[in-house]
Amino acid sequence: MKLIIHRGTQEIGGSCVELSTANTRILIDFGMPLVDKKREKFDSAILKGKSVEELKSLSILPEIKGLYKDEEKSIDAILISHSHLDHYGFLNYVHPDIPVYLSAGAKELIDVTNIFIYGGLKNLNTKLINNKQSLTIKDFKITPYLVDHSAFDALAFLIEADGKRVFYSGDFRAHGRKRSLFKNMLKNPPENIDCLLMEGSMLTRDRQEYNNEDEIEGKIEKTLKEHKNITFLFTSSQNIDRLVSAYRACLKADSIFVIDIYTAFILDKLKKISKGIPQFNWKNIRIKFLPHHADRLADAGYRDLLYVYNKRKITSLEISKNKNRILMLTRDNSMFPRTIKEIKGVEGTKIIYSMWAGYLTDTFSQYCEKKELILEHVHTSGHATNEDLQAFAKALNPSMLIPIHTFEADKYPDLFKNVKILKDGEVLELESKVL
Ligand SMILES: [Zn+2]
Ligand SMILES: [Zn+2]
Repeated sequence: MKLIIHRGTQEIGGSCVELSTANTRILIDFGMPLVDKKREKFDSAILKGKSVEELKSLSILPEIKGLYKDEEKSIDAILISHSHLDHYGFLNYVHPDIPVYLSAGAKELIDVTNIFIYGGLKNLNTKLINNKQSLTIKDFKITPYLVDHSAFDALAFLIEADGKRVFYSGDFRAHGRKRSLFKNMLKNPPENIDCLLMEGSMLTRDRQEYNNEDEIEGKIEKTLKEHKNITFLFTSSQNIDRLVSAYRACLKADSIFVIDIYTAFILDKLKKISKGIPQFNWKNIRIKFLPHHADRLADAGYRDLLYVYNKRKITSLEISKNKNRILMLTRDNSMFPRTIKEIKGVEGTKIIYSMWAGYLTDTFSQYCEKKELILEHVHTSGHATNEDLQAFAKALNPSMLIPIHTFEADKYPDLFKNVKILKDGEVLELESKVL
């Protein structure tokens, strides 16, 4: 079996791995980068109007023969680990006949993103895969493993061919609401792994102030009980673990969780996958209508849903009247000033900033200071800590461990055994065992 990491050996984001035998070629993930060559934030505006050839010449798209539209297809399948753009964001460039395998949750969230944020993913030949249900793609046997991550329904993959076993960790952690998956994996790890491709996003980051989702839930509950004004929650509506933490905190503090149409739609779409996900018509949940969300949903053919959501609508006046028992989900920094303009007396109120601190801009911090809004960072990472990565590597005990999805590949040999650091595009031949 041959392995090439097209992108991801030295960076977080834009992951893309190719595995091949004499007769079969598959890709795992085809993400949009998070950083450019200078390690500054990748600006997706650069993609606009450029052809595949132009993007290849700028080294934005990797050279992968038989992958792109308008060429003869020779990639047999693409596996997508989860619904974060840094793992699937370049799928709109691929040949439409190539089957794209992903979990039901990832498919739903990608479809929602396509309606509300990044349009353009059309004609994908998607096929759904399930936890622990193996599938065969010509020479390859693939077994998906459900993992704990900030993206809902995220997968790792065991890939077998030519007598070799490769494990791709994807993005994962051991401190979310699905942490039992991690414990089970340690108890019952896939055996005889020749090669483990393991993420290391947290190698650069400081120790966490909040260790897990339970601590986040506790902190939100405490804030809601103590604080006598509206509390805002800044988080991603696609971080389902975090929404569950927030909702549970609201129930305990007898507060109303105010979500928007976009969030209500996400929860609605995931209902069929997990019955435990809070829904717009559950106790203590109300919907704030934002006109641009309503327009997007109507344009996508969901006008009827707006009438249904309307029954749980909350007005700015109602929010103002019940200020001391409101947790209001908000997200977009540029929308926020408009949101609070309609609500009276927000001075001295709290913003729970529940995302990676790197997203918080100076402009927004200064804005909060000027408006006398108290900003508190309450977050736990979507990625495993160094200790959990070590426990994971020890349990899988691979003959070779290759860093991926990390800025700190050179730190791996200090933390793990049998490390082999690759370069993007380097070909690694995994020799067949002599039988
Ligand atoms: Zn990622
Ligand atoms: Zn991720």
